[in-house]
Amino acid sequence: MKIVIIGIQGAGKSTQGNLLAERLDVPYLSTGHIFRKLAREKSKIGRYIKETMTAGFLIPDKKTLQIVTEYLQRPEYKNGYIIDGFPRTVEQAKEFSHEVDKVVYLRVSDKEALWRLSYRNGEVRDDETVAAVRKRIELFHKVTEPVLDYYRKKGILIEVDGEKPIEEVSKEIFKKLGI
Ligand code: AMP
Repeated sequence: MKIVIIGIQGAGKSTQGNLLAERLDVPYLSTGHIFRKLAREKSKIGRYIKETMTAGFLIPDKKTLQIVTEYLQRPEYKNGYIIDGFPRTVEQAKEFSHEVDKVVYLRVSDKEALWRLSYRNGEVRDDETVAAVRKRIELFHKVTEPVLDYYRKKGILIEVDGEKPIEEVSKEIFKKLGI
């Protein structure tokens, strides 16, 4: 099964994505993780990605599509995967060559997401300043919400209340996916 997870930052995509991956026995991958890895490279593209991410902007569609498509060619993704963070724009969704089975939208309010991010424990990422997070939430409404409509029209979008406790959210996802 090829599943996309969509939600604003702080919605719990990585938590739910990993639970889903375990349940379906397919790998989980996140474009944020891929880009953060590339941003550590001391190359021209590495520096460019780092600057773009730190400002809270998106990597251009063409570059993103190229990187993601290349990643997904690895044999471990052949039988399916859970992808988090992609597609982020309608252009990415349209140009993506894979047939996606389902798209899970984790619905969380901006207020709840900001609250969760400011109280998140552990490592502090330099692309997680309040300004960068606000910028990303703003971008989500502007450019990623239309992606939800795109998949809704295709009849493969499932929506879940992401503000409930982790276990309840995953139960709802499994139920709606029929797994
Ligand atoms: P995330 O961890 O998913 O919030 O991603 C962190 C950052 O990586 C984003 O703010 C973007 O700069 C970049 N990024 C991740 N996924 C994408 C994507 N699908 N398209 C463009 N930029 C992306």
